[in-house]
Amino acid sequence: MSVKRPIRAEFPGRKSPAGAVVPAAGGAEAGKSPKSGGLRRASLMQEPVLVLNATFEPINVTAVRRALVLLLKGVAQAEELHASEVHSSVRNHRVPSVIRLLAYRHIPQQSRALSRKNILLRDRNTCQFCGAIFPSSELTLDHVMPRSRGGRSSWENLVACCYRCNNRKGDRTPEEAGLKLARRPRPFTLHTSRQLMSLIGHRDERWLKYLFY
Ligand SMILES: [Zn+2]
Repeated sequence: MSVKRPIRAEFPGRKSPAGAVVPAAGGAEAGKSPKSGGLRRASLMQEPVLVLNATFEPINVTAVRRALVLLLKGVAQAEELHASEVHSSVRNHRVPSVIRLLAYRHIPQQSRALSRKNILLRDRNTCQFCGAIFPSSELTLDHVMPRSRGGRSSWENLVACCYRCNNRKGDRTPEEAGLKLARRPRPFTLHTSRQLMSLIGHRDERWLKYLFY
């Protein structure tokens, strides 16, 4: 599965749910759609929708067409809506921007790969001590509890850190060095982050309050 194109890769040629008009992929709507404007609707159906776990943790990005299926099945509920609607022969549907699963879904541990790249991704290339954003080449990984004092290389003990802060901290804890962590480091679902990071920033502002939780 291509990471860059999660939506199309994940739901190729998905059949439409009962009542929802879902033009065939690629805009081939001849004979399929009862109304005009199918091309626009086709692209609307491909728009990304943020999927939240029951706990409001973002876990995935899917396409409008898939999100509508989940809503119609009663598996998820809409948390944020677009102004636009899609029309079917039965009723109109407000296009979801953010949906939330009604039942908690366990995210397996093996989806998390601990690596320098992923720590920087999790921390958004932001030094967790001074808060400045750096290119990856100007960041290092800091063991919050130093290795010399038993600190482990784990999601919870590694943070992105600029060289200046890293030097200042040395073999001390943040408290000892007079530094404060921007936020408590924690595991991160790589699957989620790759998709979200590729979309964030130029997408939907309705997502923001869920992404920076
Ligand atoms: Zn720094």
